[in-house]
Amino acid sequence: MAEARRTIYMDHSATTPVRAEVLEAMQPYFAEFYGNPSSIHSVGRRAGVALAQARRTIAALIGAKPSEIIFTGCGTEGDNAALRGIALARRQATGAKRIITLPIEHKAVLYTAQDLAEHFGFDLTLVPVDGEGLVSVEALASALGDGTDVAVVSVMYANNEVGAIQPVAEIGALCKAAGVPFHTDAVQAAGKLPLNVDDLHVDAMSTSAHKFYGPKGAGFLYLRGGTPFLPYMTGGSHEGGRRAGTENVPFIVGMAKALELVEAEREQENARLRVLRDQLIGGILENVDGAMLTGSRTQRLASHASFVIRGVEAEGVLIALDLAGIAASSGSACTSGSQRPSHVLEALGVPAVDAVGGLRLSLGHSNRPEDVDYLLARLPQIVGQIKGSVPVEL
Ligand code: PLP
Repeated sequence: MAEARRTIYMDHSATTPVRAEVLEAMQPYFAEFYGNPSSIHSVGRRAGVALAQARRTIAALIGAKPSEIIFTGCGTEGDNAALRGIALARRQATGAKRIITLPIEHKAVLYTAQDLAEHFGFDLTLVPVDGEGLVSVEALASALGDGTDVAVVSVMYANNEVGAIQPVAEIGALCKAAGVPFHTDAVQAAGKLPLNVDDLHVDAMSTSAHKFYGPKGAGFLYLRGGTPFLPYMTGGSHEGGRRAGTENVPFIVGMAKALELVEAEREQENARLRVLRDQLIGGILENVDGAMLTGSRTQRLASHASFVIRGVEAEGVLIALDLAGIAASSGSACTSGSQRPSHVLEALGVPAVDAVGGLRLSLGHSNRPEDVDYLLARLPQIVGQIKGSVPVEL
């Protein structure tokens, strides 16, 4: 019997496997050193020491102080905490009530900003992006004005659907000069782009461990000392009174280990993946009928390739790829079976009829050159077959 082919995983922007070293670092903190890190006794202190060490490790990796790290449960929580916590506190202090963000943000930011506008009396400014998904610093500066009426600016570091990297450091410098708090959603950037918070001029930055080979259910929010912030979760005095709730010690230990590893390998791994990504992009544009690149050629994550394929629906392509042993994504957050095109592709000006054919291939540790060869061998056939048999109706 032929040996079963391993699954080729090309959906690292959705999530990543937990690395063996990470799992090993986490293991003792489930049943051996299980204490509550807030307890006075030695069992608790053992966990408390690990928590403090993880906080120091993460802080050092991003150029922050340990007290500026707030552990969260995920990227969505960090985004909510930053927007709600900062916007409410700054309005209370100064009366500023405008929130500036991008139409291509992850829904964790976009829907939170919309919720603050709809239910909490804030005004929302969405700064448009160009056809490659990039915001211009000039457009952001003009939306910011003198900043006195702005409660918070939130601009994602890298986009999850089209991989576009925003000029975060320049925007951060603008906000700093205007005295306006600046948040970046770095969920897709962590482990792939430099995270030094002073170089980026960010006041707040959210991340999620499961995107960089850590466990699901852990993240951290960097919050610069002195940034206005109202605690969004009240209760005990955990996390400096900014996020109540007993910390998830094993997951946090794992997250710190995972960040340490990806940071150490970042440049080398990016260089390796960039070659594979460019082969994917070149091969798909050349050989797949109707394929167009979405996002920027140059300002994009080294691990990220995204397309729309004219004349097909993403779901059919993804199912056929899965049957061929390749895990990929449409890149859009549309739920399967729904025809609503991605808000990101819409903001890039991709016509709805094309946006239903989104394909995102996001690379990572497990991918080898032969994976790219295999995908490039199968995708043209798959698309050809679907185009022959499945009419797209809109
Ligand atoms: N922000 C971005 C850019 C993301 O890609 C994601 C997840 O895909 C999130 C936020 C939410 O992160 P989490 O799944 O940890 O809640």
